[in-house]
Amino acid sequence: MAIPNADSVMREESQIFTYISKLVKDPERFSNRIQALYASPHSESHDIVELQDGRFLEGRSRPQQMHDQIIGRVWSLQDVTERQLTEARIRYQASHDLLTNLPNRMMFSDRLSDALFQATQNRSLLAVMFLDLDRFKLINDSLGHAAGDQLLQEVAQRLKDCLRESDMVARWAGDEFTLLLTNLYGIEDATKIAQKILAALRLDYQLEGRTLHVSSSIGIAIYPADGEDGETLLKNADAALYRAKDGGRNGYSFYTSTLNSEATEWLTLENHLHYALERQELMLYYQPQVDVVTGKVIQMEALLRWQHPDIGIVAPGRFIPIAEENGLIVPIGEWVLRTACAQNFAWQSAGLPPVRVGVNLSARQIREPNLLETIERVLQETELHPRYLELEITETIVMKNVDRTCMILDELHQMGVSTAMDDFGTGYSSLGYLKKFPFHTLKIDQSFVRDLNTDPNDKAIVAAIVAMGKVLNLQLVAEGVETQAQKHSLLSLDCEVMQGYLFSRPLPIEAATQLLADQSIK
Ligand code: C2E
Ligand code: MG
Ligand code: MG
Repeated sequence: MAIPNADSVMREESQIFTYISKLVKDPERFSNRIQALYASPHSESHDIVELQDGRFLEGRSRPQQMHDQIIGRVWSLQDVTERQLTEARIRYQASHDLLTNLPNRMMFSDRLSDALFQATQNRSLLAVMFLDLDRFKLINDSLGHAAGDQLLQEVAQRLKDCLRESDMVARWAGDEFTLLLTNLYGIEDATKIAQKILAALRLDYQLEGRTLHVSSSIGIAIYPADGEDGETLLKNADAALYRAKDGGRNGYSFYTSTLNSEATEWLTLENHLHYALERQELMLYYQPQVDVVTGKVIQMEALLRWQHPDIGIVAPGRFIPIAEENGLIVPIGEWVLRTACAQNFAWQSAGLPPVRVGVNLSARQIREPNLLETIERVLQETELHPRYLELEITETIVMKNVDRTCMILDELHQMGVSTAMDDFGTGYSSLGYLKKFPFHTLKIDQSFVRDLNTDPNDKAIVAAIVAMGKVLNLQLVAEGVETQAQKHSLLSLDCEVMQGYLFSRPLPIEAATQLLADQSIK
């Protein structure tokens, strides 16, 4: 664009301004500025305006005086695009990380001070997060720096995609990033964003023709609880990051310890559980039920174990609630059923004395509409005779789903599958309730067995359960039998089938097979 020559083309100032206002990016602001100038004839001005085509125009103006009279204004207009862009580039470079194009440490600290000022004014919450990639050094060392750089760029992009307009992410150093979340309604907002970030960063990366999995950890400090100035918040978020790493990788941790441990563990396990089935990390242990009078094993209960690559063996009490919550229990439960039935069929085919296999069902499985079809299909596929399968449902689950359980029990009965009420005595059902449910077996909860010889109440309760069970023609099994004294008391109460450490702990396959082969338990 040629800047119009006021002398030759348009002599009137107003014509020039009309012309320029058509070119500028923000015409309204421009005309307000001009009007303000004319309203105060003595003032001087110096403005830089941006044009629609990206160029910048510097305008200076001062009043023209003659004999103390203002007779007009002197204007100078200059195209300063080059200079503006250079300055902007320098400013950008000083405040950004050039690899990821994220704000750098300095800009983050500036924005943090501003945000803290705002938060103090508005009495609002603010979160500072420290994030780093787990095992980044390993990737860098093994795949090379170019791959490491590419990974950091991809991570930066995913981080930006997770944040809201008002949030900020910066590259702090190396594989460390800092995040600033403003206007939080509660701590849960920070939790949600942390979870979202961890999930986004966990997705596969394609680097140099390979698929890579990278996990990360996050430490969180909240203003005002964990610090009132930027430095303290950053320091505490960093401390929380170390705690997140201690609690297993791919988790987040708050500086305030009470908010911590459970959420972190839950998240770590939940993340890994998604892969557990496909990576074949799940396995079944088997624990015998013994008829103490004959010394024979009559049943093996399948108990789920998770061989976690970092943590080791995880007990079902820690991860089944998670699997219940996220629905993974359905495929996992089917896997348990199929594996246990196939194993039992294999034992029988190997000529071992036939026993039933016990499989636990969870609440979510009970509510699955096609549970019965699944059971039927698994039995067909594994060729196990239905009478060698017993399904265990805890009393608590039964009581929460009375009608549905009754229906399922009836159907199973017709299919020839045996059923047990597990952990009896821990729920709220009365003995009389037992009549309602067509179970074959009643498993007396270990809490009664534990205190059998010390608490006369427990002895009376077990005696009543046994008596009632016999009347209803139920098979009674006492769980958690650990001592000879407990065994004798149970025998004296006419309970003959027992399960517990006294006879055997839950065993991996080879040991369970050996035990069945020996059959020498007394
Ligand atoms: P449960 O069905 O009542 O299983 C008995 C639990 O008591 C097992 O714990 C077993 O290892 C433990 N136990 C056995 N004998 C003794 C003893 O003498 N003393 C003590 N203190 N404990 C004993 P585990 O394997 O940790 O399983 C806990 C619960 O997890 C099970 O309770 C069951 O409700 C659930 N579970 C296990 N496997 C599965 C599964 O495949 N699916 C579902 N849905 N739930 C499962
Ligand atoms: Mg059980
Ligand atoms: Mg039980």
